[in-house]
Amino acid sequence: MRRQTPREVRNAHSTTRTPLPRRMRMAIMSLFLLSISVMVIIDSKPNYHRTALTGPELRPIESSPWIGGDLCLDFVNTAGSRTRAPAVDRLEAYGDLVRWSRLAGTIDDSIAEELLRLAEAEPASAARVLSRAKALREAIYRVFSARADGRAAEASDLNALSSAAAEAAAHRALAPAGFGFRYVWPREGARLERVLWPIAAAAVELATSDRVTRVKECATANCNWLFVDLSRNRSRRWCQMRECGNRAKQRRYHAREKAGSVADRKNDARAEPGMGRRVQTGTSRDRRAFR
Ligand SMILES: [Zn+2]
Repeated sequence: MRRQTPREVRNAHSTTRTPLPRRMRMAIMSLFLLSISVMVIIDSKPNYHRTALTGPELRPIESSPWIGGDLCLDFVNTAGSRTRAPAVDRLEAYGDLVRWSRLAGTIDDSIAEELLRLAEAEPASAARVLSRAKALREAIYRVFSARADGRAAEASDLNALSSAAAEAAAHRALAPAGFGFRYVWPREGARLERVLWPIAAAAVELATSDRVTRVKECATANCNWLFVDLSRNRSRRWCQMRECGNRAKQRRYHAREKAGSVADRKNDARAEPGMGRRVQTGTSRDRRAFR
């Protein structure tokens, strides 16, 4: 009898292969359809640029605080905890700049849509404007933080602010408004940098106004949010009472509690001869803890 060639063996094997059970075929088909659905969902995941105004996702920028009392300080407060670089930063994409500007009221919906379309068409330019926005924000922070702290601002930061404001002013123009005029940025031919102009203009306006003497930095270490203290007796210390203010209150309360228990132990030691030495040790340890 002739020996079968390898191909004949394979063919013989394939013709005798048991067909897959119906249930298994259905399961494979379902998995296939499921994977296609997942691919479609991933592909249609909202684009931050496209959905910056209307997307269902809640962007971090939307929880940005509006406690600065000035446009440029509210922009500074989109980041926080700046020991060296911002540890908290709500500006993650160019679309966040547009969304923030829309919330701040410095652009309207039609300009916002135009900027988002532009950012989608020119992503590299949008990324450059985003990093310029962050650099401007940090320069504004350092200038006003120094002022609040009674220090001189760095010349490089003042130059950065001046340049940004000069660029903004170059695009501004007078327009009729009622019987008078308004100083506006043109609506036509939107540019990606458009979102930076009102911020830079506001920073220079605040820096050269009387209100600059009221600019403060939150008293909580490494909060770094700035605000204009509009209280009558200039007594505001925290960015928000319900956040940093309450935490400071709690710290003071615990400190008093601890100090009270130390005083009680001292009194006990006086009342009981021979206990003084132990209590003294506890007191010095507690003092160290509060430094
Ligand atoms: Zn704070």
